[in-house]
Amino acid sequence: MPEHNADLVILGGGSGGYACALRAAELGMSVVLVERDKLGGTCLHYGCIPTKAMLHAAEVADAARDGDKIGVKSSLAGIDMAGVNAYKDGVVAKLYKGLQGLVRSRKITLVEGSGRFEGPRTVVVGDDRYVGGKVVLATGSYARTLPGLEIGGRIITSYEALRLDHVPDRVVVLGGGVIGVEFASVFASFGSQVTVVEALPRLVPAEDEFASKLLERAFRRRRIAFKTGVKFTGARQSDDAVTVSLESGEELEADLLLVAVGRGPNTADLGYEEAGIEMERGFVRTDERLRTSLPDVFAVGDIVPGLQLAHRGFAQGIFLAEDIAGLNPPVIDEAGIPRVTYCEPEVASVGLTEAQAKERYGEVQTLTYDLAGNGRSQILQTQGAIKLVKSGAEGTPGPVVGIHMVGARVGELIGEAQLVYNWDAQAEDIAALVHAHPTQNEAFGEAHLALAGKPLHSHS
Ligand SMILES: Cc1cc2nc3c(=O)[nH]c(=O)nc-3n(C[C@H](O)[C@H](O)[C@H](O)COP(=O)(O)OP(=O)(O)OC[C@H]3O[C@@H](n4cnc5c(N)ncnc54)[C@H](O)[C@@H]3O)c2cc1C
Repeated sequence: MPEHNADLVILGGGSGGYACALRAAELGMSVVLVERDKLGGTCLHYGCIPTKAMLHAAEVADAARDGDKIGVKSSLAGIDMAGVNAYKDGVVAKLYKGLQGLVRSRKITLVEGSGRFEGPRTVVVGDDRYVGGKVVLATGSYARTLPGLEIGGRIITSYEALRLDHVPDRVVVLGGGVIGVEFASVFASFGSQVTVVEALPRLVPAEDEFASKLLERAFRRRRIAFKTGVKFTGARQSDDAVTVSLESGEELEADLLLVAVGRGPNTADLGYEEAGIEMERGFVRTDERLRTSLPDVFAVGDIVPGLQLAHRGFAQGIFLAEDIAGLNPPVIDEAGIPRVTYCEPEVASVGLTEAQAKERYGEVQTLTYDLAGNGRSQILQTQGAIKLVKSGAEGTPGPVVGIHMVGARVGELIGEAQLVYNWDAQAEDIAALVHAHPTQNEAFGEAHLALAGKPLHSHS
């Protein structure tokens, strides 16, 4: 078997793997990156980018449909899925080309093929053995389903949902987490009748309860139906429909059932366990410096328990490359990773929920700033709010430890929000900064003005 040596061998070329490769190459390491499908992974080809392109098309559809409400004569003539797909695929193709060029220009050896970890520092691809000074596992995740619920026909995952050639009349979305509500939002904007089914008591259950409440209110206004706190018991399909049964005894009939019940780690049959790597419910167990239980073997991205987000993968990949190069980067604070759900309206947060903050700090103070007081939000005709969670009781100094936002485009405010959390800023620090008028960002400034005890456009 031919053997190849490199400073770093990375298994999986998604967000985590390729970010690690790029940074390691920048730091002078020789890098082998093994990818069995397409460089860029889930995020670029089947996740973040294509879904956000669909959501943009959905926003344009809403604008066309609602133009009349602001005196612009327009109407939505229909959705041409071939056109939407061409636009979406064009965005992905351009970014894919750019990424391929980047990897080439950094002299990273891209090995196309399916790899298997053979331990102690070896990845085997076909007849070739790649031996690294260090090995990084970055094999990502797959769309989960539920026991007895087989994907096929009218029962689809996000993968198939990104390839539809028509707009379904009726869709049931199983799962009210990030992926579920994003697709629910797209389908509703495209004209489908949508019902979201979530077993937990609220939509986006990982978010602060405030965000769930506001999103649910907005979905009601948009006539997106949802059933929370109700378990799915089965689905059967015929030639012209799929029937979804719920524990309540209710049955929902639809053209499509989108299964969005989370993503499982892609770690089976890749040699991990056989080589002695400690696992945790299928995920690779690591310490805070992303070291696995084997020396010189690390893991990044969706296979590491925690938030399954592309920018977490990027950050972990960069962290690892720098750690391996001896730069001793600081450990990543998982709570400091921003989270954005891109449905309409958007949900964005960083730091702790109120419940988590209470658990950690005992007493907390919260402040909610309604977007009704924000000029730009009124221009955009969006409703929502910004909630701040500060550690310590009212009147005592303490940093803002949680920021939660709901409203059109609030995802764009997360940049400042993450600085506030990650730099331990207090409300007074942000209140002293001037925010441009009229922007939605101004609402962020005003929320901090109010928390600092000097509200401007705020009734509370
Ligand atoms: C519908 C959807 C929407 C999403 N939207 C967002 C979003 O808006 N923002 C966000 O931050 N995140 C989003 N995500 C999550 C994001 O895509 C993932 O968190 C991210 O891709 C994880 O990166 P990764 O490197 O761990 O894994 P992946 O991107 O899954 O990459 C792993 C790579 O490893 C390869 N691989 C696996 N096994 C082998 C093998 N044996 N040999 C060779 N190669 C192998 C795979 O082909 C893949 O390319 C979304 C995900 C989905 C599904």
